[in-house]
Amino acid sequence: MTPALALERLMLHPAYDRFVEYARTVMPVGLVDQADAAATEAHAILADAAVRLADGKGKGMSAGDLPGWLRLGLLDTLSAFAAGRATTCRHNPDATRPRPVLAAAWRPGMVVCPGCAHLLSLKHDPVADAVCDSCGRQCAGVEHDDGIYPGMVQLGPLIYQYGTCGDCRPTIASGNPLSGPLPAEQGTPRGTGRVQPRTRRGRSRGKGGQR
Ligand SMILES: [Zn+2]
Ligand SMILES: [Zn+2]
Repeated sequence: MTPALALERLMLHPAYDRFVEYARTVMPVGLVDQADAAATEAHAILADAAVRLADGKGKGMSAGDLPGWLRLGLLDTLSAFAAGRATTCRHNPDATRPRPVLAAAWRPGMVVCPGCAHLLSLKHDPVADAVCDSCGRQCAGVEHDDGIYPGMVQLGPLIYQYGTCGDCRPTIASGNPLSGPLPAEQGTPRGTGRVQPRTRRGRSRGKGGQR
């Protein structure tokens, strides 16, 4: 079993919350605090993006709310990062020094700091930008009513971006706007600054009109 599959099984287990509570009691206190701070900061970045992209209601969700392809991609990236196998930006984000980091379904194995979000951008690759991260279909484009719907999810310090065709959009059963349809964003290039900390790109509302 791969680490990602093992993690997935763990997270979908009914006793997962109790496991996390237990893990926190046996982890070094300093590391728990650092991890908490990183997760809180990552959540703030995500919530800020939610305010700009959707109706501003960033809600929590559980692993079971995510479709399998998204959950596995996320866990694969997280386990590669934790094992030091991920390709990173030059700032060398490291899982042992928790702080917010970004990754994307279309760049497997790459983890960057928020300041290096451009490394994940598909702005200059319109062909790749039109490919659904779930089914791999090449979409015809928003002008044919067949654009890509971007979204992002957070797990701990990691913000994971993805883009899907209309058929593969995750449902919003959890009420998480970031895993649901974001029509205002449809058809715009992925990874072009939506997850910048508010101090950097707070002026822009999403990336509409910045093509
Ligand atoms: Zn960086
Ligand atoms: Zn699809």
